[in-house]
Amino acid sequence: PTDLNKLTNEYLRLAYHGLRAKDKNFNADIVTNFDNALPLVNVIPQDVGRVMLNLFNNAFYAVQQKAKTAGAGYKPVIDVATTLNSTHVEIIVKDNGTGMPDNIKDKILQPFFTTKPTGEGTGLGLSLSYDIVVKGHGGTIDIQSIDGGGATFKLQLPLNT
Ligand code: ADP
Ligand code: MG
Repeated sequence: PTDLNKLTNEYLRLAYHGLRAKDKNFNADIVTNFDNALPLVNVIPQDVGRVMLNLFNNAFYAVQQKAKTAGAGYKPVIDVATTLNSTHVEIIVKDNGTGMPDNIKDKILQPFFTTKPTGEGTGLGLSLSYDIVVKGHGGTIDIQSIDGGGATFKLQLPLNT
């Protein structure tokens, strides 16, 4: 039984501090909305943690890339929320980074698909996430993105039955 608010927050901090250790100038507004009514959910915390770490790293990368070309008025924002519906706990990670076009969106769950330069991405993060969340935990991953306008990843993990 896992407290997904706590797990999400831990991995969010881990990703942010990891990034700032490499790039001291990097700043992003991190907005969190954790639903306090979330029940404990039966998951493998290390596995779901790896999924989160990749989502946060991807989101930070996307805003970092956007910051390189956007004007001085651009402020990176990462929104992280948890919420509860009748059947699932949802974890939503939203960034205002580069986003991606539809033709890329259809491929990103495939193993080894990456748009990052060699050494910066393996293309395995989201395919592994699919295995963990969908095959391993019976959940879902929903992706929304606008080219140039950021991306939103929503994980759903089933409530204990
Ligand atoms: P990697 O991070 O090693 O490239 P992933 O499987 O984590 O592998 O992601 C695959 C690809 O999906 C990325 O290379 C990128 O093109 C796209 N992607 C993932 N997350 C985002 C995001 N938040 N914003 C824009 N593109 C993204
Ligand atoms: Mg990744």
